[in-house]
Parts: sequence; C-alpha cells; structure tokens
Amino acid sequence: MLSVEDALERILGYVSPLEAEERSLLEALGQTLAEDVTSPLDLPPMDNSAMDGFAVRFADTVGASATNPVELPVIGYIAAGSLPDRDLQPGTAIRIMTGAPIPPGTDAVVPFEDTDEVQRKASGAVLDRIAIMQEVTNGTNLRPAGEDLRKGDTVLHSGATLRSAEIGVLASVGRDRARVLRRPVVAVLSTGDELMLPGEAPGGGKIYDSNSFGVAAAIQRYGGIPKMLGIARDNLEDTNRKLEEGLSADLLITSAGVSKGDYDFVKDVLMQRGEIAFWSVRMRPARPLAFGALHAPDGSRVPHIGLPGNPVSALVAFEQFCRPAILKMLGQTNFAKPTVQATLREAIHNFDGRRVYARAIVTKEDGRYYATLTGPQGSNILTSMARANGLAICPENLTEMPAGATAEVQMLDWPEDTIL
Ligand code: AMP
Ligand code: MG
Repeated sequence: MLSVEDALERILGYVSPLEAEERSLLEALGQTLAEDVTSPLDLPPMDNSAMDGFAVRFADTVGASATNPVELPVIGYIAAGSLPDRDLQPGTAIRIMTGAPIPPGTDAVVPFEDTDEVQRKASGAVLDRIAIMQEVTNGTNLRPAGEDLRKGDTVLHSGATLRSAEIGVLASVGRDRARVLRRPVVAVLSTGDELMLPGEAPGGGKIYDSNSFGVAAAIQRYGGIPKMLGIARDNLEDTNRKLEEGLSADLLITSAGVSKGDYDFVKDVLMQRGEIAFWSVRMRPARPLAFGALHAPDGSRVPHIGLPGNPVSALVAFEQFCRPAILKMLGQTNFAKPTVQATLREAIHNFDGRRVYARAIVTKEDGRYYATLTGPQGSNILTSMARANGLAICPENLTEMPAGATAEVQMLDWPEDTIL
C-alpha cells in the first residue's frame, strides 16, 4: 500500500503550473500573477489632505485653543479631484476636502471639528473667516506624495495570488489587465451502468450520479474550470468515446471502476489509451485510486486521476489528491489544507492500519476546538460529508483515538481554503 504522501508526491510530479494568459482585472481574481508589476506613478500622486478641514501654515496656529481661537481669512476652496488655483499665503486658510491636493505653502490641515465651521454655518454666516481652536504641528493631516508607492516600485511580484487586495492594488496603479497563469480545465467523467443524471425520473435500480457534480463543484471552488463529460456506460465504446472528449483538458478525473472487483472497462480502456497505475492508498475511506496519463493524438499527455466510486471516498480523495494537483497547475505553492487541533468528543476506531479521515463537525467553545463525528461513516453516506466541516485524522499507527484525545482536523470549509 502507498502512503497518502507518496501517492500525492507521484501525482504532483506529473503536473506543472500552466502557461500565462492576459485577463481583465476581475476575471483574474484567485489566479496567480505571472509578471512583476511596477508602478508607473507615485501613489498618492501628490501631497494631499487626510481630512476635511482647512489648509494652513502651522505657525499661524501656535497657541490656538477653544478659549483662545486664532481667526484666519478663508481665501479659497479645493475639492477632491481638482487642482489648487492659488498658493496659501501666510496668515490665511484654504478650505480643503479629504484627498484634495494641498495648495503650495500648506504645511498642515486643521480638521473641521477643531474649527468653528459648524457654528458659523448654523448661524448662516459666510465662510470667509474661520476660527482655529486647536494648535497643529508641521505635517499634521498631510499625506505626502509617494507615501504608499513610488514610481518604479515593484508593487506585486510574479507568483502572488490575486486576492481582492491585490486586484485593488493593480487598479490603484492604473492597470486594467494582468498576466496570470491560466486556470486548468478539468474534465470530469463518471462511469457505471447504474448511474443516471439528476433531473431524470428515478427508478429502474439506478442511482443519481452525484460524483460528477460534487467533484465538478470542488474543481470550481479550488479555481479550476470543470468540463462535464457525463456518464460512461460500462462498455468499451462508450468509455472510449467519453474519454476522447477529455483529451483537450489539462486534467481528467474519473470516478468508479478502479477497485479490485470492478467490471473492468475503465481499466481496459485506460490501459489501451495511456499508462495507468492502480494503487491501494493507506487511507480510509478511498483506498483504491488510479493515476496515470491519457495519450492525446497530438502526442501530449493528459494526467488522469481515477477516484473511487463511493461518493464520500471520491470527495475525500479529491481533497487529498486532486485539489493539490489543481492548485499546482494554478501556480500555488502551498497545497496543505488548513488544519486545527481539536479535542475529540467521541472515539475514532482504526481497524487496519490505514489513515482514517473521519467526517466531523468542528465547533469552537471557550477558545478550543471540539470535533464530533457525523454519525455512520460508511463511504456511501454522502450526507455525512454534507454535515461535516472537517475531516478528523486518526493516524495509521493508532488503533484508536479515544474521546478526549487531540486530533488534527482538516477543515473543509474555511475561507482561507478558497481559491475560487
Ligand atoms: P465502483 O467503483 O464502480 O464499484 O463503484 C463503487 C460504488 O460507488 C457503487 O456503489 C457505485 O454505485 C457508486 N458510485 C459509482 N459512481 C458513482 C457516482 N458517479 N455517483 C454516485 N455513486 C456512484
Ligand atoms: Mg461501477
């Protein structure tokens, strides 16, 4: 049997970051930057006011207080987005709004609340004079040009993940497009005569194909583009035809048909059309796993991961093996799922020396994490996965983790886990 780590290492050895493409800013959310971005400008581009208030020379405010205000004539007004039309003369003030460029000669801004502006306005007086009621020092409430960025600075490095902040930074230096690594197209194929599509009428001994949808949703969530190939029936022609459609993808994920007792069409076709290894991975659920590559007519190889058929197994194996492969293609370098240490509320039993991923509900109480299992852990019980927000791990070498023990739990649904 292969360890989870060995299986993952072999899979990752077979996939590489994809090539770069140019995308408009919002489309690039979650993608990996493929260029160093330098700023063509200072940011802010000019000295400006950090407050709504009055541009002054600080020396004119010396000694000002509520009981001893300094009154200055107001000689102008500057809104954000306009340029000053005059210099600030000593002994005067210019009314200014947040973000507006300061007039030459200004060395401080007195905020409205430290003046009598409100009282003057309330009394209907013209704002041609203002009483300063608080002393300011050199530079008070001024934001110097280039405080955030200087022209020529590298603002983002190649390899950065474009989150909302990075998208904002790109926009702030005037960029409306970015070079990013392409998202992988991941083909999804279910196999089995017993499957039918959601939307079809139930009956006839058939079950709905949940794997295609659960897997495709996970692909999308982690930043890939799912390409639904549908269901291949358990015969050579259909399996061949469906796999054909997967040849243009960057990765092919199939489910079912990889365990020992299986009706072997998937295995047969895969062995004819590429190279494939059938593994037993030391984990529960999801021991059987297939991995290999399909040969495309142009000579390229499409990596292929064959997940087990049982829906819980398929999703647990997806998290351990497909998610890292997708992240690597996206240019990410951290493939580890976020984990917490949680106190088990009930025991996890381990029969046969495999690593157990028990579906668990993790809660935080008094600053500590606790994990309760979701009930029956059969690998066909997909609702157990829907109830869970984590996978509590019992290591291979333990036969039991008793209630009260601390377990590592892979979190399934944490925001930091989302690439999009
Ligand atoms: P197999 O690997 O073909 O023996 O499938 C193992 C189990 O998973 C069987 O009970 C299948 O019916 C079930 N199964 C296989 N594929 C799917 C699927 N796409 N959706 C839901 N259950 C499936
Ligand atoms: Mg089957």
